[in-house]
Amino acid sequence: MPAADLLFTGAAVFTGTGQPIHGHVVAVRGGRIIAVVPEGEASALVGEHTRIERIDGALLSPGFQDAHVHPIGAGVELLMCNLAEATDAEDAVAKVKTYADANPDETWIVGGGWSMDHFPGGAPVRTLLDAVVRDRPVLLMSRDHHSAWANTAAIALAGLDASTPDPADGRIEREADGFPAGTFHEGAEHLFRDVRPEISDDLAYAGLLRAQEELLALGITGWQDAFVGGGLGGIQDIDAIYRRALAEGTLRAHVVGAQWWERDGGLDQVEAMTSRREAVAALGGTQRYELGTTKIMVDGVAENQTAAMLTPYRDSHGHDTDNSGLSFIDPTRLREIVTSLDEAGFQVHFHALGDRAVREALDAIEAAREVNGPTDGRHHLAHLQVVAESETARFAELDAVANLQALWATHEDQIDELTLPFMQDGQEARQYPFGDLVRNGARLAAGSDWPVSSADPLDAIHIAVNRVAPDIDAEPLGGAHQRLDLATAMAAYTSGTAYVNHRDHDTGYIREGYLANLVVLDPDPFSLSPDEIHRSTVVSTWIEGERVYSRTA
Ligand SMILES: [Zn+2]
Repeated sequence: MPAADLLFTGAAVFTGTGQPIHGHVVAVRGGRIIAVVPEGEASALVGEHTRIERIDGALLSPGFQDAHVHPIGAGVELLMCNLAEATDAEDAVAKVKTYADANPDETWIVGGGWSMDHFPGGAPVRTLLDAVVRDRPVLLMSRDHHSAWANTAAIALAGLDASTPDPADGRIEREADGFPAGTFHEGAEHLFRDVRPEISDDLAYAGLLRAQEELLALGITGWQDAFVGGGLGGIQDIDAIYRRALAEGTLRAHVVGAQWWERDGGLDQVEAMTSRREAVAALGGTQRYELGTTKIMVDGVAENQTAAMLTPYRDSHGHDTDNSGLSFIDPTRLREIVTSLDEAGFQVHFHALGDRAVREALDAIEAAREVNGPTDGRHHLAHLQVVAESETARFAELDAVANLQALWATHEDQIDELTLPFMQDGQEARQYPFGDLVRNGARLAAGSDWPVSSADPLDAIHIAVNRVAPDIDAEPLGGAHQRLDLATAMAAYTSGTAYVNHRDHDTGYIREGYLANLVVLDPDPFSLSPDEIHRSTVVSTWIEGERVYSRTA
């Protein structure tokens, strides 16, 4: 056995599944793991140039992988008018004023990160913005990117007034006389598409690099970008941004891009997507970046009642309405689309949030399986806020992966004030039913949906295990039986997402022959009581044996 370049010793080792092993060393050479052996056998691996990393008390884990994230938009938001840190409505407005004052030459104030639960009904009004910026248009995306907040100047520039109808896939909040009140949900955001400024390619590229830095610091060594297409938040071509990073050698993590399915477009998109996938493959960097996935939005979100539900939403008095949310694509059509994508060798990444959307997505996978037989698509459903009991066993039957955003599975204002009061009785028990999915044999992957919420895997894992956020006094959301054990949650964020990314042959595990994509966590979360898991932090992150982040450096 040749000597290792790098040897990790003293740590517990989470290998990607099950309980961590103790008393072992992990040896790396040429960017790959060459041995995982008991400490007693370590001396045979140590040569003159072997660097030894003693990490006593820590946990060595495969690098985290995020199965649903929007890094470029998140990075750009960090560089623009960013409200993610605002504590309430007043603070959000103050931040807009500060940004506008500091950037007098910007003709539009664009940004995002506001939180629905800071505003009555989740819908901020234009006059709040007018009070601080009257002369320039302001357009700010909500943290979850499903709503936009505009001031009067932006509304005027877009030519919107009381006579503007709601688009089929969205809703305009209105004042008593019908004039837009300032919040635009879902497809109504696109009413600004022709007038809002584009994000320059240079800013988008800077955003990607900034985001990558953030993600590496959180131990994330690979991800699935859940929106590679035109027009997200004014970014014209996300694919081109990744290609540039590939060409300039700045992409450190490995990325699977999910090509955006235009819901009003035709099946000819399959061919266009195939061409783009092949064009990227021809660059020869598929180890770093590939485009084998398609993202389909099945529905909206619960907070603005566009998540597709099997039962009607209620109004604020508890009475049933005639709204049970939106299916963005007709279910028959969805089955055709998914069958066609599956046949063309694509993975389908569904946004499926309400229980009807989950059923429609699973029905579409079932239809594809009937026509095409088993494929290696590894289709996955993200978000899964409400999953009917009848659907939980279908994931395993259809080899569909449950892509969890575990950070959301806790009581907090967004769910307690904007969601649960408007759903039927009994729906609380069906929120994010991770335990039911595991008991029914579903494969799990995990992701953050950053910048919708924090990208920190340890925060999400804490909630997956507890179903209660740190430092709040609440019952586990949906009941204690929906909690995951720590090893299952860690596996979802490592080997589980590697599977979804079609990278389980060389990442997601600590095994001989695998890439040395690793994270060191201290203290070892397995040594902590469940309610203390959030105390564990990332000490260092490694890609192919190279340190790409260090807390102390
Ligand atoms: Zn998303």
